[in-house]
Amino acid sequence: MDRSSLNIPIKEVRGVGEARAKLFAKLGIHTALDLLRHFPRSYTDLNETRFISELSLGDEAVIRARVTLPVTERFIRKGMTVYSTVIADDSGAIRLTIFNRKYAAASLKVGSEFLFKGRIDHKNGYVCMVSPEIIPVSKAGGMKAGYPLTAGLTSNIISNCVKNVLDSISSPLTDILPKSVRTENALASPEFCYHAIHFPKNYEEVNIARRRFIFEELFLFQLGLQMIKGSNRGLTGTPMKQADISDFYASLPFTLTEGQLDAVSEITEDMQGARPMQRMLQGDVGSGKTAVAAAAMYFAHKNGYQSVLMAPTEILAAQHKRTLSEFLAPLGVSVGLLTGSTPAARKRELKAQLANGEISMLVSTHAALTDDTVFASLGLAITDEQHRFGVRQRGILASKSKSPHVLIMSATPIPRTLALIMYGDLDISILKQLPKGRGKISTYSVNGGYRRRVFNFIRNNVDEGRQAYLVCPLVEENEELSAASAKQYYTELSAGEFRGYSVGLVYGKMPPKEKDSVMKRFADGEISILISTTVIEVGVDVPNASVMVIENAERYGLSQLHQLRGRIGRGQWDSHCILISDSESAAERLKFMSKTSDGFKIAEKDLELRGPGDLIGNRQHGLPEFEIADLERDMNVFYDALAAAKHVFSTDPNLTLDEHAPLRKWIDRMFSRTP
Ligand code: ADP
Ligand code: MG
Repeated sequence: MDRSSLNIPIKEVRGVGEARAKLFAKLGIHTALDLLRHFPRSYTDLNETRFISELSLGDEAVIRARVTLPVTERFIRKGMTVYSTVIADDSGAIRLTIFNRKYAAASLKVGSEFLFKGRIDHKNGYVCMVSPEIIPVSKAGGMKAGYPLTAGLTSNIISNCVKNVLDSISSPLTDILPKSVRTENALASPEFCYHAIHFPKNYEEVNIARRRFIFEELFLFQLGLQMIKGSNRGLTGTPMKQADISDFYASLPFTLTEGQLDAVSEITEDMQGARPMQRMLQGDVGSGKTAVAAAAMYFAHKNGYQSVLMAPTEILAAQHKRTLSEFLAPLGVSVGLLTGSTPAARKRELKAQLANGEISMLVSTHAALTDDTVFASLGLAITDEQHRFGVRQRGILASKSKSPHVLIMSATPIPRTLALIMYGDLDISILKQLPKGRGKISTYSVNGGYRRRVFNFIRNNVDEGRQAYLVCPLVEENEELSAASAKQYYTELSAGEFRGYSVGLVYGKMPPKEKDSVMKRFADGEISILISTTVIEVGVDVPNASVMVIENAERYGLSQLHQLRGRIGRGQWDSHCILISDSESAAERLKFMSKTSDGFKIAEKDLELRGPGDLIGNRQHGLPEFEIADLERDMNVFYDALAAAKHVFSTDPNLTLDEHAPLRKWIDRMFSRTP
């Protein structure tokens, strides 16, 4: 039987009908197959009943007991009737209370036996079971599935309908997984699994079934990504020619590391291809991604193409513009800057220059690049993602010209697996080493009692010519409040501990001009101590800054702390990062920061502590939601599924083999459904 013949409307399933079909629709169940794929949320193990005498208050248990007294009925108030009785097994007796369930109460005849599942509670001086699930003894010795429900549908109803669907299957289901994949990964057949996930005998069967469905889901997802990647590769891009950029290398104030050179050659090689580059440059904070971006932009320039570099914040855009100008002005290339705060007249002028090709390089904030920005010949689009932009926004740039080469720079050392999931359609270059000649960063975590000493430490460092960041207590969700607390903190400190020192303040909502000027004065060394909210988290580069103090450090995720810490240790001096927190529960987490500076380890730990959604910012940022798979739990299955998907794709990229026919069908459906 073809899986698609399970596509009959749910209302035609025996036991459903028009009325229930509407309820099923609320659960997203429209076909018989949808119903089979409405997986149980939990199971009650009816193999393991307990004796009444061994139960303690608060226990959640299944007991097998007889009704020993006629049920009494009591009206408490309108719409609330309480039914009570006593049930007993060989070991003892217990009170039973249920509310309003008239029919359930009526079934509790003296002498009849049931399984009761519920919590042991204490009410009016009696030990009792309140509102238990009442299960016929015929169900004993199996597992009872609990489903995600909606009003009007119980797990029993769903279970019966599922059973009717399963009973109606006459011939074997077509397996969407190729036989070779199934054998190699020791996966069970679809019939077995649908049966076992709904009506398992024990948890072992549940696990066998779940593993198959999880594998299937991850496999199909990865195969889909491989196919998308394949079809992107079909686009015509803007192939460039080999070009000599040694004058760029010569004009840099430093020599590129081997890693940077490798990345540049991977990128420029892609840019010479007929298909548009889709590459991510991943490198820990301070690894020198900007210089790599500049090289790629210069390469495009030499080929007569324009390029754009997009930054997530105005501060960062302004900094990129300064850096690129410093690198490229000696070579006679001018760089435009377009942000939200660019005056309207200048904006118009810039856009005209972009449209007629007068400007070949643009730095822009994400928001500033609107539909009316037209490029004469855009060949390369770079987003400095710094983990702020999601996968979805990335398309905007690609639509700016037919198909420019696309490079995404990510400072989040995303664990490999996550990178594959989010960016499965991208190639990846990684900068592994940091440039040489950097001082070492030591990290300490202390409680508020050390604050005096910390301020003293800042003053000493400033006296020696260094600069410091002080990230102040913030209320992240509330920009107003956070600005207020930053201002207050600034006022107190500049009049108190840091009197006589040059102190600056920067926060997100500050007028961009002011923000920019403070950052510039900090970069130029006019400001020694910069008090800020986390706006400085992203990419700011001031090599002379060697102290980073973070108040309320417990409020940040490890990766975010790592980003903040990445603002120091960029010069030749030894640097110090001090995390201040009075939170005991965060102590271990913060200690972890002092033990490692490896961004990958930190990201893995973050993943372990907080889950992938948090690591990327939030769920909207493109991490797929799976039906049954859970990326934190199912990493092992994920790797197997990935390997299998890659193998299938590489041996049969168009899925033309017979054994891949069901996959082909599925892929076609998926692609035709995407808007
Ligand atoms: P990130 O990868 O975090 O964006 P940046 O591009 O801001 O890092 O670079 C960090 C700092 O390192 C900058 O001051 C930059 O000028 C410097 N830098 C980059 N590459 C090298 C190199 N090869 N040698 C020395 N310093 C470098
Ligand atoms: Mg950067």
